[in-house]
Amino acid sequence: MELIPRATFRQIRQERVEEIASARKQGARVVGYFCIYSPVELVQAAGAIPVRLMRGGQAAEEAGEKYLRADACSFCNSCMGNFERDQLYQQVDAVLSVNTCDMMRRLPESIERHFGIPVYQLYMPRTSEPLPHRVAEFRRQLDGLAGELATLTGSAIGTERLESEIAAFNRLREMLRQASDTRRMNAPLLSGGTMLDLATTTWLLGPVKAVSLIEEVLRILAARPRRESRRPRLMLGGSILTEDDRWLLDMVEEKADIVTDILCTGTRWFAEDAPSDGAPLDRLARFYFSRPCMHRRPNSAMYEYAQKLAREFRVEGFVYKTLLYCDPWSFEVRRLQEALGLPVLHLDTDYSTENREQVRTRVEAFLETL
Ligand code: SF4
Repeated sequence: MELIPRATFRQIRQERVEEIASARKQGARVVGYFCIYSPVELVQAAGAIPVRLMRGGQAAEEAGEKYLRADACSFCNSCMGNFERDQLYQQVDAVLSVNTCDMMRRLPESIERHFGIPVYQLYMPRTSEPLPHRVAEFRRQLDGLAGELATLTGSAIGTERLESEIAAFNRLREMLRQASDTRRMNAPLLSGGTMLDLATTTWLLGPVKAVSLIEEVLRILAARPRRESRRPRLMLGGSILTEDDRWLLDMVEEKADIVTDILCTGTRWFAEDAPSDGAPLDRLARFYFSRPCMHRRPNSAMYEYAQKLAREFRVEGFVYKTLLYCDPWSFEVRRLQEALGLPVLHLDTDYSTENREQVRTRVEAFLETL
């Protein structure tokens, strides 16, 4: 039986969207962000509400296609579509974006142009070794962002408030790790699908309410009897997975357990805490600069991360889901397969629902080989 029904998560998210809408009527400002390099602590310390924009879906993708070029990935198309039609996206007063892939550089420009929403673009040095001048440049970017956020909310970011937000988000990261780590056990009770829903919901709730939700999930987990049946243990990776991609996880988990992932909408957000030594902005600069991602060069940290998780979570197979035209992730499939030495199922699709039976056939054939 499902630990927490999907509908419950959906309802919590919907209630939060309505809460955000009324906060906005009272003057609150909402900042939408996409990726793991977004310093949510700064947004919250400026008094704004950070919301992670990670909704996909076929209808949104189709609605967004008119704004971007023909080979834009489904995620970027759906973002544009969601700004047109989704109640959460329509609450966004400003977008915080980081120059990860080419599409992620173009998307915010299109949001600004077509929806008139201001965009704060953070430039992350592409070269990933944390040499002092690179981290200093990123620190300079954070300084600029802090100024922009203060202008948006009319409230300057104080050191004490920033310290407290860093602690709050670190606590959230720790709790998400705790939840995710329950999947280290044989026959885990927390499914990959529930973990995706849990993370998705916490990014909308903000750290305080999110921690209560995770505590509740951990209580439910502790009260559940152990499961006896053993199934193949899988790791998930690839392009961003959104709230609307849970169908894939549910499909895979009919016959296997997703015990970990290397997703930006999964473990990579909460794998580590922001450090505790140094001035708060310096710490955030060091922390966010060092997050691994495929788009960085060299991206060996991403490979080390995947190998470590595969080893620690006793992974037996890897499901690698990329979006059509997402070069940063699809180019890496062969190298990842070699580095992990695991059977890999590579699914490369858009958000259309018509191909789901084909996906099912491939998933089932893959699971039979494990
Ligand atoms: S990394 Fe891939 S999925 Fe993510 S925005 Fe870039 S092209 Fe799209």
